[in-house]
Amino acid sequence: MQQRDDRIHDYQVYIGGQWGGAASGETFDSLDPYTAKVWARIPRCGAADVDRAVTAARAALDSGPWATMHPTQRGLLLRRLAELIARDADRLALSEVRDNGKLWAEMRGQCGYIPQWFHYFGGLADKIEGAVLPIDKPDMFTYTRHEPVGVVAAITPWNSPLLLLTWKMAPALAAGCTMVIKPSEFTSASTLDLMRLVEEAGFPPGVVNVVTGFGPEAGAALTAHPGVDKIAFTGGEGSGRAIAKTAADTFKRLTLELGGKSAQVIFEDAVLDNAVRGVVSGIFAASGQTCIAGSRVIVHESLHDAFVEKFVALARTARMGDPLDPATQVGPVTTPPQYRRILDCIAMARQGGATCAMGGEPAKRPECGDGWFIEPTVFTGVTNDMAIAQTEVFGPVLSVISFRDEDEAWRLANDTPYGLAAGVWTQDQRRMFTAAKKLRAGMIWTNCYRTVSYMSPFGGFKSSGMGRESGQEAIRDYLETKAVWMDYGAEQANPFVLR
Ligand code: NAD
Repeated sequence: MQQRDDRIHDYQVYIGGQWGGAASGETFDSLDPYTAKVWARIPRCGAADVDRAVTAARAALDSGPWATMHPTQRGLLLRRLAELIARDADRLALSEVRDNGKLWAEMRGQCGYIPQWFHYFGGLADKIEGAVLPIDKPDMFTYTRHEPVGVVAAITPWNSPLLLLTWKMAPALAAGCTMVIKPSEFTSASTLDLMRLVEEAGFPPGVVNVVTGFGPEAGAALTAHPGVDKIAFTGGEGSGRAIAKTAADTFKRLTLELGGKSAQVIFEDAVLDNAVRGVVSGIFAASGQTCIAGSRVIVHESLHDAFVEKFVALARTARMGDPLDPATQVGPVTTPPQYRRILDCIAMARQGGATCAMGGEPAKRPECGDGWFIEPTVFTGVTNDMAIAQTEVFGPVLSVISFRDEDEAWRLANDTPYGLAAGVWTQDQRRMFTAAKKLRAGMIWTNCYRTVSYMSPFGGFKSSGMGRESGQEAIRDYLETKAVWMDYGAEQANPFVLR
């Protein structure tokens, strides 16, 4: 088992290829959610640091080795970075667990998988092809070029810091962009650890920069900066809305990966034991702190009682405790504000008339130490108009809703402001394909849940965001298209009309 040390780790930011503190000299603390103690000190960057980072990214984009580097070479750098991440996956995962308190098995698994994104997009770097267009004008040669969109601001949340950064970084760098990254103030350490590997891989100074600090300070300064061309953001709906408004001032390009209230629809012909396991993984893995948490079960009325009984029986076996212990299945909540928010949502469910079938309170088990733990919680008797059925909890809280017929199931599943993911449990092929058409969500999982891949697009409908990450099409979000016209005719046509 990995061990904590008692040291407080002092981190520096990485700007223009140099390591240092914030211009103000200020720092803030990062807490370990299991011990509730400070384990790292992080520079508190502000507008001056952001300006320095954007200037460095701009310079690296416009001149110097990155600006003229052949895409094949760019791809090699990405693949070298992949190898370094694989080498240091244990160390990176340890930083993530200490920062966000998620399970070692989950974070080590993510850090071991992240290299695949850099290999995949490294391979794409020299396959960004334009087209020769069969144009409807005589003596005209017309083609398209795809160029890097420019300086990308990548802003990430605390729940899976490196994975969600990778989803931005791998396509952005493959496209030839440069970057300024602002990780969550709760989980900055692993992103700064990654910069040591960016440096070791040989990326030229200024190509990747990190500013750490708070959303309203460093984050807001970065999104408002006129030197930023595109914002790639993962986080909450409220922050996403604020960022979209700021981005509108200078028409920055935007990718937004926001929240969800994803449905798991269980039909009467489902293999119930599989559905139960899938729902447990969708809501209690990562203590429910995932955007794709399957937080609403929509179950056929004939299966409702059997489902709740089996689900509660399995969920009761979940081992809580130290996230570094490989035997732990449910860890702490990452931040004190999130802990309070989850308890508020539980109170809201009770006030709304839902019945608490399990949990519904802070976990006081001895193995939970001083951490911010909440008992896995299930509410039954939920109707879709209750606030608990419409609000993203981002915690281990499941709402169970029953339905009578298929049309009602699709209607309930779609009836929230969100559209990130949906799960469907059935053996009926017609229903599987119908679900794929009817459900308004970016990811539809049938007889499975919470699977992701570098090869498959990820993103949401409606208030769950805009744009897609991963898969080949993700790189398009980091490119601008240019149409090039070359007239090889002998004479210029009438200059007073559109040709
Ligand atoms: P958050 O919105 O509070 O913070 C995310 C990041 O945005 C942080 O780095 C923060 O400092 C920054 N930020 C906050 N306000 C800002 C502002 N005004 N300007 C610029 N930057 C600002 O989100 P969180 O609490 O860290 O993460 C949880 C949320 O993230 C949940 O809603 C969850 O659903 C969502 N999420 C979505 C996905 C997805 O892919 N769709 C993945 C993970 C998490």
